[in-house]
Amino acid sequence: MISLFNKPEQANLKIEDDRTGLEIDTLRRALADNLFYNQGKFPEIATKNDYYMALAYTVRDRLLQRWLNTTQTYLDKDVKLVAYLSAEFLLGPHLGNNLLNLGIYDQVKQAVTASGLDLDELLAQEEEPGLGNGGLGRLAACYMESLATLEIPAIGYGIRYEFGIFDQEIRDGWQVEITDKWLQFGNPWELARPEAAVMVKLGGRTESYIDENGHYQSRWIPDRVVKGIPYDTPIVGYRVNTANTLRLWRAEAPESFDFQMFNVGDYYGAVDQKVYSENLTKVLYPNDEPIQGKQLRLEQQYFFVSCSLQDMIRMHLYTGKNLDTFHTRFAVQLNDTHPAIGIAELMRLLVDEHHFPWETAWEITQQTFGFTNHTLLPEALEKWPIDLFGSLLPRHLEIIYEINRRFLDQVRLKYLGDDARLARLSLIDESGPRYVRMAHLACVGSHAINGVAALHSELLKRDTLRDFYELWPEKFSNKTNGVTPRRWIALSNPRMTALITQKIGDRWLTHLEDLRQLEPFAENASFRQEWRQIKRAIKQDLAAYILAKTGIAVNPDSLFDIQVKRIHEYKRQHLNVLHIITLYHRLKQDPNLDIPPRTFIFGGKAAPGYFMAKLIIKLITSVADVVNHDPDMRDRLKVVFLPDYNVTLGQRVYPAADLSEQISTAGKEASGTGNMKFSMNGALTIGTLDGANIEIREEAGAENFFLFGLTAQEVYDLQARGYHPWDYYQGNGQLKTVLDLLAGGYFSHGDTQLFRPLIDSLLYHDPFLLLADYQSYIDCQEMVSQAYKDQEKWTRMSILNTARMGKFSSDRAIREYCEEIWHTQAVPITLKAYVQADAGLRVPNSGVK
Ligand SMILES: *Cc1c(COP(=O)(O)O)cnc(C)c1O
Repeated sequence: MISLFNKPEQANLKIEDDRTGLEIDTLRRALADNLFYNQGKFPEIATKNDYYMALAYTVRDRLLQRWLNTTQTYLDKDVKLVAYLSAEFLLGPHLGNNLLNLGIYDQVKQAVTASGLDLDELLAQEEEPGLGNGGLGRLAACYMESLATLEIPAIGYGIRYEFGIFDQEIRDGWQVEITDKWLQFGNPWELARPEAAVMVKLGGRTESYIDENGHYQSRWIPDRVVKGIPYDTPIVGYRVNTANTLRLWRAEAPESFDFQMFNVGDYYGAVDQKVYSENLTKVLYPNDEPIQGKQLRLEQQYFFVSCSLQDMIRMHLYTGKNLDTFHTRFAVQLNDTHPAIGIAELMRLLVDEHHFPWETAWEITQQTFGFTNHTLLPEALEKWPIDLFGSLLPRHLEIIYEINRRFLDQVRLKYLGDDARLARLSLIDESGPRYVRMAHLACVGSHAINGVAALHSELLKRDTLRDFYELWPEKFSNKTNGVTPRRWIALSNPRMTALITQKIGDRWLTHLEDLRQLEPFAENASFRQEWRQIKRAIKQDLAAYILAKTGIAVNPDSLFDIQVKRIHEYKRQHLNVLHIITLYHRLKQDPNLDIPPRTFIFGGKAAPGYFMAKLIIKLITSVADVVNHDPDMRDRLKVVFLPDYNVTLGQRVYPAADLSEQISTAGKEASGTGNMKFSMNGALTIGTLDGANIEIREEAGAENFFLFGLTAQEVYDLQARGYHPWDYYQGNGQLKTVLDLLAGGYFSHGDTQLFRPLIDSLLYHDPFLLLADYQSYIDCQEMVSQAYKDQEKWTRMSILNTARMGKFSSDRAIREYCEEIWHTQAVPITLKAYVQADAGLRVPNSGVK
């Protein structure tokens, strides 16, 4: 493999430099060196983790040239930067990805082997930074990778949670949450930058005064201040010199001790202050969709947004510019409403601290922000009780009132006398107890608003944000999500990657639409055989993993039917279970039934406070217990719940699937990205017309997709007419049998109460229309079984799925954001050596500050 380190501009770096060289012997020496000088260990007593750390530092050294040159270039040249604001970044492990993107995987593997170590074992040592819940956080991570690969100047801003998403264990079939101690052995990928700390105010009150120019001004007198310390992680692009920064903030007390309190003898009070401040970034809220209005969460959001905006302003002023041009320097994207408080914060910084007139500040603010909406579930739209909001952010509440006053004046002119519309549009919900509506703030304060799949963007315009669309249709657009093929194909599925590259070269890794060149190979029998053998080998690997983790032996020749994602009623894992019970019952009735053996695999975490989701996990594991221990089912049906679904596990699971379950109620899943990862790796999808499934089906071809269920419109109409799930139960014998088995305690050792809440919800409410979609799903699954019997046909469909997924690269998505929202361009990075092997430090004339 040719490495970019051998490019001419690197020629002045001596190849044997221990910190940059790529010769096998140099890498071995660097590894030994880092073990000794960073870990402080002799090989005899070093743990596997010590070796992992030594390797991570070896790789980081080889990354720093790119990173520092990138940062310096952005400061020196007047480039426009994308600032991606997200409360979550679900990054996954860094080491493998950095090896791949730097193009040094093979050399490092050889050096590690030559040192008597196993690279896969070292890779397995890395605790993944689980700083997100699911799709939204993972999207932010894919976008950071694509931005770097496309050489777009960008910085990601977020929170350095000390505890990320909890680790999940399954005990007695139930989810148990274990705190995620991802930092316990240190994090070699980050650099703390305490010199770039900023202060963030909280609480207190405001007062007004007249400034020296006779202007009315407001001043915020907070009752606490916390310090934000940035921790920087490089995000390196694929085979380019760009390494952008992910800057995550950690909260700290401004001083280690409050000396005033200390002096009056209140030592513990002083320490309390410190503990209080540090709690701010202690833990990620583990709720995927619905939000709960906890003060600490609002503090987290405001904290990281204020730190980030202050950081951007400092950078802009550092380059000698005036804040008039802030929006030409930064395109700030809001990943959902979590950072939407940024709109009020930028106004505060411009008006109160930099004394801009309101109108100018508002112009700058609107030009700066873009807003991505991620949900259609009304209960997940973020809103904060006025009292809570005002006590934490009194000045921001005033600013929001002022934004709202001016906004509603504008609305009034346009819609004379339409008070109902005014109430609907207001930033303040006054229908009951008063709330600040964060989505409304985001819409008013941004110049661009987008949904994350074609259907989702249409539904936003038609329902969720309809009044805003009528007001400003030009602000709205769609940006269908994508995922990075580097992590989700090359790294996760090296076997398939090698086969594809052997046939069409390797350009597809950065131009995923090139996968189309595989289409003719679908008609080639020997290629199909290779394709099948690869899938078989990956399934074999997953089977070994399943056996090791759960003790369940599964047949790698069975159909791997997989649903991995957060557990949520709208995602309908329990519909999948109804199908399993249906099959189980049919097999019990007719042991000669001719259906291909299936292995049902589930994975996903439930929010700790979401009772129904936790009960669905118990349902899956209970059905698994009965099915897996029934001798009649031997090798025909297996059910597995894989604990602790995360990015690392996703990398094992997506490539091993024959069938991808994307069965949310139509109109509920904004986009989905798991659906894309499966399909890219050659799984066929069984799915509803929801989120990006629609576009996946369009691309793959309807004949290569198993479609079932009501459309979003039919769901809407049925609910408007009045939906009576009981009628479906009464009218469908098979469905009745299945629900009766469950209710009768067949899967709960006779306990008829255990699943009662789930069954009652289905029979009497069924908000996600499982019973309405049941028969269609069962029929469609029957088609899946029939199709799987014809392995040649199935393989053809599998190849075509992979060949036609080019659209779902996050590179495509990022290009669209760049052209249509951010108006930014690539800035290639040239490497300059700062430290040469034969020369020491020379401080530049500008000197040490
Ligand atoms: C891709 C991904 C998700 C999102 O999955 P959906 O099926 O789109 O909900 C969630 N968690 C992890 C770890 C992922 O990799």
